[in-house]
Amino acid sequence: MTKMHKLLVLIHKGNTLRLALSYLAIIMVLSASFSVIFYQTSSTGLHLQFTSTPTSEPRRVLILDSAQPLQTGHDEALDSINSQLQRSIHDIRKQLLQRLIMINAGVLATGVLFSFYLARKTLAPIEAAMEAQSRFSSDASHELRTPITALRVRNEVALYNPDLKLDDAKTIMQDSIDQAIKLEQISEGLLRLSQNGQMLTKAPVTIEAVTNEAVRQLQEMAQAKDITIHQVMPNITVIADLQSLAQVLTILIDNAVKYSPKNSTIYIEGESEGRYALLRIRDHGPGIGSADLPHIFDRFYRADYARTKHGKHGYGLGLAIAQKLIEQNDGKITVTSVVGQGSTFTVRLPLAS
Ligand code: ADP
Repeated sequence: MTKMHKLLVLIHKGNTLRLALSYLAIIMVLSASFSVIFYQTSSTGLHLQFTSTPTSEPRRVLILDSAQPLQTGHDEALDSINSQLQRSIHDIRKQLLQRLIMINAGVLATGVLFSFYLARKTLAPIEAAMEAQSRFSSDASHELRTPITALRVRNEVALYNPDLKLDDAKTIMQDSIDQAIKLEQISEGLLRLSQNGQMLTKAPVTIEAVTNEAVRQLQEMAQAKDITIHQVMPNITVIADLQSLAQVLTILIDNAVKYSPKNSTIYIEGESEGRYALLRIRDHGPGIGSADLPHIFDRFYRADYARTKHGKHGYGLGLAIAQKLIEQNDGKITVTSVVGQGSTFTVRLPLAS
């Protein structure tokens, strides 16, 4: 367990306890107040009931307070009834008090469990968000550290080398520029991932136009590998933020081109299904193994073949960004893949009416 994790566990325990105690205090204050009010109302009710006689009968008042002298009737029968009544009221009050104490003890016992349950429920989403944020920061700093260290070491070595030749210096400079570009791309990706979608402008968007533009931008890269991009795009309009959708399509088509072998075909197909539009990007690349498949939408996740064969292009942020953008547009992105045959990424978005 890392230090950060231990700290989070401690904070989490402390917070849960504090919140649970607050909930318990509220429950007990309510329960105790209710009991006091109930006891007082019942006592007063009892007193009135026993000291009143039916209205049809002549009214006789029994003075129950033993501190006061008996004022009505001097006969002994009335006296004994009076003291019996006093005892009964006292017993009933005592029983009522015992029951209320027992009920409150029960409320306290269940209240402890309920408060902890409620505190856990309340804090769970907050803690999940905190943990996600701390994981995000640690992932980001981990990914940024490697190229930054490489950049520094390379330049330091060159700087203190008295025999450094101009050609070597130029190579080092070129490498430094490449690393700086990589850092720029990672930080741009991280920035996109941290945005919460408030800037999105959702409006009717024709899928065909956005796809054409994304394909046009990647055509050169596809041609370099003799890859054909085949589009089957009926006239479909979705409700989405134009820029987000363009970015998602670029990421998915870019991946398809990147991971497809030379001389293959990529299919981009659209169709409507109920109130949704489905957009599929299908390639004949290496496919994604079942061990990698659940993780490919995670930040910085790259399958081994991607690191080795396609190491230079990509930082494992594309699909995480695509997923976030599609979710912000009330859509969903899924993948099916067969190793050795290829992958199909499906984007689902709400149709424009
Ligand atoms: P990267 O920059 O590595 O492409 P992504 O987030 O776009 O990052 O993709 C994450 C991982 O998912 C890739 O490293 C690769 O292993 C896998 N992947 C994505 N698209 C495809 C595809 N079309 N074919 C095979 N593997 C893919």
